[in-house]
Amino acid sequence: MQKVSADLTRAGKSIGFVPTMGYLHEGHERLLQVARKENDYVILSIYVNPLQFGEHEDLEHYPRNIDHDLSVAKRNDIDYIFLPENKTMYPTPLSIEMVVSKRANVLCGRSRPGHFEGVVTILTKLFNICRPTKAYFGQKDAQQVAVVDALIQDFNFPVQLVSVPTVREKDGLAKSSRNINLSPQERSEAPAIQRALQKGKTLMQTDNPDIPEVIQETRQFLERETRGKIDYIELLSYPDLEPIETFDRQVILAVAVYYESARLIDNTVFRPGDMS
Ligand code: AMP
Repeated sequence: MQKVSADLTRAGKSIGFVPTMGYLHEGHERLLQVARKENDYVILSIYVNPLQFGEHEDLEHYPRNIDHDLSVAKRNDIDYIFLPENKTMYPTPLSIEMVVSKRANVLCGRSRPGHFEGVVTILTKLFNICRPTKAYFGQKDAQQVAVVDALIQDFNFPVQLVSVPTVREKDGLAKSSRNINLSPQERSEAPAIQRALQKGKTLMQTDNPDIPEVIQETRQFLERETRGKIDYIELLSYPDLEPIETFDRQVILAVAVYYESARLIDNTVFRPGDMS
């Protein structure tokens, strides 16, 4: 893969890179389509990175279907698929560890210690292997976008970050490989996550909104609509992910909910005056 990308770079070709953990759905497919439009070559990586999973997380249960993934790649005219094994990515224990000190101690980073360290480590390796001109990430994982933005800036990766809007089911649920692990009852309740975010956003668009009150109302709405256990509901500046007292800049309202066998996340990013 490294030789291929070096040859393409030498030939002056642009490379669009879409890193995923596989079990591709229409969210991933949107990333591939945007990358296809904007680059000479597109590389898709499929790798379930053990380093970004905590001890009690769903690494073993993470869904896989490589035949399906290959057919998605084929119908989107993808040039290369990078499908490494653990022994290729981590042949020996790492001698150098990365620490994410900003943008990581809130939201998912707080519930999943070590997760973003795992993400920046694998991306550093993948960026060096695939040499992308542009790398594509979903806004569904907005904190990941913020952390990757910091990674690229802090370490001068010659990569342009592209953030792609969240693709949703008809009922508003954000598409996720983990949705398959919901029971029918949970699946019917889960669209409430998106409705709660919309409600919170609407509440914020009043004069001088009381932020703790908006969060409280959003929480109560979600608790009424689903039996999932709320991991967090937070409103922070975006992309800095700092707490705010007054609504005077771009913010993220983000939610994570635990169901029996899946933890779902979703968010909305908006500024004062954004109504839609
Ligand atoms: P994953 O395979 O979960 O690591 O996701 C790979 C990439 O696809 C990440 O950049 C995700 O943010 C993105 N992605 C996942 N779900 C969606 C979605 N529903 N809409 C847009 N992008 C998504």
